[in-house]
Amino acid sequence: MQADPGLSRYPHLLAPLKVAGTTLRNRIIMGSMHTRLDMEENGVQKMAAFLAERAKGEVGLIITGGYAPNSAGLIEPGGPMLTDRAQVPELRRITEAVHRYDSKICLQILHSGRYAKQEECLGPSSIRSRINRYTPRAMTGEEIEQTIADYVRCAALAQEAGFDGVEIMGSEGYLINEFTVLRTNDRTDEWGGSEENRHRLPVELVKRVRAATGNNFILIYRISALDLVEGGATGDEIDRLAQRVESAGADILNTGIGWHEARVPTIAYPIPRGAWRFAAARIKRAVKIPVVASNRINTPELAEEVISSGDSDLVSMARPMLADPFFAKKAREGKPETINTCIACNQACLDFIFSDRSATCLVNPRACRETLFEEGPAARPRKVAVVGAGAGGLAAAAEASRRGHQVTLFEAADRIGGQINLARAVPGKVEFDEMLRYYSGRIEAGQVNLRLNTPVSKADLANEGFDAVVVASGVHPRVPAIPGIDHPSVVVYSDLLSGKRKAGRRVAIIGAGGIGFDVAEYLCHSQPGEAPKHRALDLKDFQREWNIDATLSQPGGLSGDPLAPREASREITILQRKASRPGAGLGVSTGWILRSSLAKRGVKLLAGVSYDRIDDAGLHITVDGTPQVLAVDTIVICAGQDSNRSLYDELRASGIEAHVIGGAKEAAELDAMRAIDDGVRVGQAL
Ligand code: NAP
Ligand code: SF4
Repeated sequence: MQADPGLSRYPHLLAPLKVAGTTLRNRIIMGSMHTRLDMEENGVQKMAAFLAERAKGEVGLIITGGYAPNSAGLIEPGGPMLTDRAQVPELRRITEAVHRYDSKICLQILHSGRYAKQEECLGPSSIRSRINRYTPRAMTGEEIEQTIADYVRCAALAQEAGFDGVEIMGSEGYLINEFTVLRTNDRTDEWGGSEENRHRLPVELVKRVRAATGNNFILIYRISALDLVEGGATGDEIDRLAQRVESAGADILNTGIGWHEARVPTIAYPIPRGAWRFAAARIKRAVKIPVVASNRINTPELAEEVISSGDSDLVSMARPMLADPFFAKKAREGKPETINTCIACNQACLDFIFSDRSATCLVNPRACRETLFEEGPAARPRKVAVVGAGAGGLAAAAEASRRGHQVTLFEAADRIGGQINLARAVPGKVEFDEMLRYYSGRIEAGQVNLRLNTPVSKADLANEGFDAVVVASGVHPRVPAIPGIDHPSVVVYSDLLSGKRKAGRRVAIIGAGGIGFDVAEYLCHSQPGEAPKHRALDLKDFQREWNIDATLSQPGGLSGDPLAPREASREITILQRKASRPGAGLGVSTGWILRSSLAKRGVKLLAGVSYDRIDDAGLHITVDGTPQVLAVDTIVICAGQDSNRSLYDELRASGIEAHVIGGAKEAAELDAMRAIDDGVRVGQAL
């Protein structure tokens, strides 16, 4: 029998690991993620289905979202907490669902400390975080002892519920992390002051949880490998904490990067892949137990390379498991090209969580909704046309063909991708290439008849006798009727990002939506006259940009203010008519990164603008009743889009079954997330 082709390709990643009397089948960990599924009706059933699918996909070890060991540790009222034996039977349904497919599962214990969104929050000291409006009360010695007992109870209950172990969350600036550094701990008792005292809480937690649960129970400690905040730990301090936790009885050290209040981005697309492996590698050199690398690792190639180079023993991937539950299985089968890769956009996972919605995934709308989507084939195979091969059309064609329909995909351009081909020019968004690679494969595997360079009319479609037509013909940029809009200085964003037109040194951007900000970011990172680069981000540039000290010789691993001004290659102003704050509609978890990056380069934001005219002097505007001229050499139009939906209206009028999706359906607030979601849903409905 032929061995799995993936084993020779990813020998380190797919090697089993013996730990705490059990064996993980590979080195792939699905990292802890708060999905909010547990807060929904039938939450346990949904969570079990979500995790079981990842286990079926052969992930080695799953770590749950954080459970508070007591009510003070809750991140928000109503959040997950494990304190009572009555919860054991429900949790058992989750562990059984995972064990059915031979994966292991650990429950994460997380006390939010001073990040808790509750008035009565606790911390080592009464020092408020800039991201919480509540000031913590300093815990008494008795409360600390009780909290340790609560962790022990939580771990014991997890063991009773069939979990293979627990992860004690000691990073990201939560309670335990707060105890370990002077920034948040100014105590003078045995829990503060000296380094040994500050490390006492994690050490005691590990010791006492180990004593209560025995040796055949995986005990992971998630250490803050890099705090990225002023007054954080140095590398030497982190090494010693790792050694103390190891001596106390931890089996595995997982790594966390950056406190939540850090002003350095850690997981979104503007961070190069593998950017933080150096921090895991440092800890690995300090201890003998296995170490996990995490953050911005999203392909089996990179995961294999991180382990084979000796930087870590395991790799944790959370969002990549939302994007593709079968990541590990596809790697083992030697089919990495079929993996639906996480593009680090944060749009449907973190941004949903931050806006009190359950997580899902931009590239995989089925994530966290496993019980809602149809898996089987269509009852009646049909002849289907999809018009437009942007994100929505690709998703519709792939899903329809998966369900057994005979699909023809028409695209007017010479390549698939639509608007995605423009996004790729923005620094970090070259990750979208993964989406194009994935859909190309699915289109090919599904034997979709792809016809490029083929604009189609209603008559063409009618002649070919399709049973149904999906109109995914997207959008065209809106060009506002400003006097002088035909002036040679005016460039529409699509022409700029596609490289057809160039921008000069003084630029006004009309429109402060996602595309206006993306265009500004693109311009900030390119020289006047330069063509779009479409390449991966450079690690050294990233470290310089945010003042990251990769030697960790300075507290928190920062060599300076992450938001310090940078040299700018252009003078840029972003304008909007609304009086509200420009950029208010950007993603919660990525908008601040864009705003900071642009602010560092002196990009000006102007709201409440009315556009008067454009001429050789520049852009004439009125703000607060005062006319002024922006003496710019380029004016980039990023004023939203209008739908291309006339084909849909014509098809409907002639009685042909037609469905309209994505931007063609609704241009306002269009993004790839809605387009893909629409595409998968129509593919299911045909
Ligand atoms: P958008 O978010 O709707 O922004 C359009 C901008 O143009 C607004 O600032 C609007 O502000 C202005 N505008 C609209 N009509 C105008 C007119 N007639 N004259 C002058 N200005 C006008 O659209 P977008 O920036 O094109 O982005 C499209 C979608 O792509 C977004 O909704 C987003 O979902 C997605 N996207 C997101 C990101 C991200 O979050 N990072 C990045 C790229 C794209 P005023 O009306 O106040 O002037
Ligand atoms: Fe990754 Fe974006 Fe999906 Fe989140 S929404 S898992 S960041 S692709």
